[in-house]
Amino acid sequence: MTQPNTCYKCHEPTDNQLHGYFVCPDCITALAFHQDNTIQRNRDKYSKMKQNDLFQRDYVEDVNFRLKRLEEDYISKRIKLLHIKERLEQI
Ligand SMILES: [Zn+2]
Repeated sequence: MTQPNTCYKCHEPTDNQLHGYFVCPDCITALAFHQDNTIQRNRDKYSKMKQNDLFQRDYVEDVNFRLKRLEEDYISKRIKLLHIKERLEQI
């Protein structure tokens, strides 16, 4: 017997997938996704800022930068916790 797919957040069974993660409908609602008009407004805002500052990231560059930083932060915290776990087994 196989285990049912479960939501990453609340662990309820679900087959809904977003970006490779199982997410139930209630947790999708709780994520409070930006509407397209908000995304468009932010893209326009970044575009205007970039016109005044060549070093300014555009919106997609900023989103990619934030995703990379998020992943680096996740890995740092995971390594730290794995170190604690390893030390707890040895001391
Ligand atoms: Zn959920």
